[in-house]
Amino acid sequence: MMNYLLIKNGNVVADETIRKKDLLVKDNIIIDADFKGSIPENCKIIDAGGLYVSPGFVDIHLHGGGGFDFMDCTKEAFCGISKTHLFNGTTTAVPTAVSSEISSIIKLIHTFKECRELCPNFCGIHLEGPFISKNQKGAHKEYLLHSPTNEEIELLLTEGKDVIKRITAAPELDNMEYFAKKMTENGISLALGHSDATSDIALKAFKNGFSHVTHLYSATPSVRKINQVVKAGVVEAAYLDDNVTVELIADGKHAAIDALRLAVKIKGTDNVALVTDALRPAGTDVKESYLGEICPENRVIIEDGVAKLPDRSSFAGSIATGSMLLERGVNHYGFTIVDTVKMLTQTPARILGIDNIGKIANSFIADIVIFNKNFKVEKVILKGNIVK
Ligand SMILES: [Zn+2]
Repeated sequence: MMNYLLIKNGNVVADETIRKKDLLVKDNIIIDADFKGSIPENCKIIDAGGLYVSPGFVDIHLHGGGGFDFMDCTKEAFCGISKTHLFNGTTTAVPTAVSSEISSIIKLIHTFKECRELCPNFCGIHLEGPFISKNQKGAHKEYLLHSPTNEEIELLLTEGKDVIKRITAAPELDNMEYFAKKMTENGISLALGHSDATSDIALKAFKNGFSHVTHLYSATPSVRKINQVVKAGVVEAAYLDDNVTVELIADGKHAAIDALRLAVKIKGTDNVALVTDALRPAGTDVKESYLGEICPENRVIIEDGVAKLPDRSSFAGSIATGSMLLERGVNHYGFTIVDTVKMLTQTPARILGIDNIGKIANSFIADIVIFNKNFKVEKVILKGNIVK
């Protein structure tokens, strides 16, 4: 029996416009993005009642939520994070590992494989470190950061080739050209981030396989003096190379308004993804939490709507969700709903290289969010199933 779902009376955010339309979904696919025919038999109906209907959000940089972190490496954690972000509109996410021992990363890879069926909104993992710069470590632990060895490269590929979607690394470290070659040969996309590179090193890395910049303006230097000589940095290199995409943590804290607006002015909404970089406390109201594993040295505090290291020397990540990014994108950063939705859906989907999500269009996967005028998520459809 065919499963049909009709979403009627929605203000559909699609094709750079918002229009009143009805959508017809069959099984997990949008089969008519402007449905005008007669309703098929066995059709569930959602009356959106004039609310906004958009593609589900795609978050390419996510550490946790609902009290869990992916580094917990348990089914309970994966399901808890999946649900927390799904209920806030994120229908595709890339579980992200904070810099860890390689053995912990391998454990994460195994947990991801075990949870594939249980968490259909996760599409592969993102390793943020440990091959990043000590000078731009942010909240990562310095003693874990190092250049990749050939053995580590082999091990990661053997265990995680089909699971690792992206890696954030610093191209100025030793052995990085070999690392970039091996990873890109195996279909893993490389992002430059937590890097102290000057623009010449970054531009060279973009020629050698790095295609994206992780949280631009956070742990990515701009113009500065090195030994009395003025040098451009990662930010300028990202702006100079038109093929490079960038992501920004649009939680209203990490990315300054004018910095995000400048990124969009130069790169366009096609090349800027909004990410949460959300930690364990996202979607909860706790005042204290942990970055990565639960242990005293990983403690972070939550104040002013953001996670910080206890000595307040650095932000430790955000507590944002997809719906919060949407609200901040419009109300704080001043983008239109259409542009904000695009940077939360179509653009990150393209960065991931997944060509059938991120749009309300015929033959696309039916990942759909219905939100109200205050950007509160009212309904979520994941691969044709109503999950909220
Ligand atoms: Zn992160």
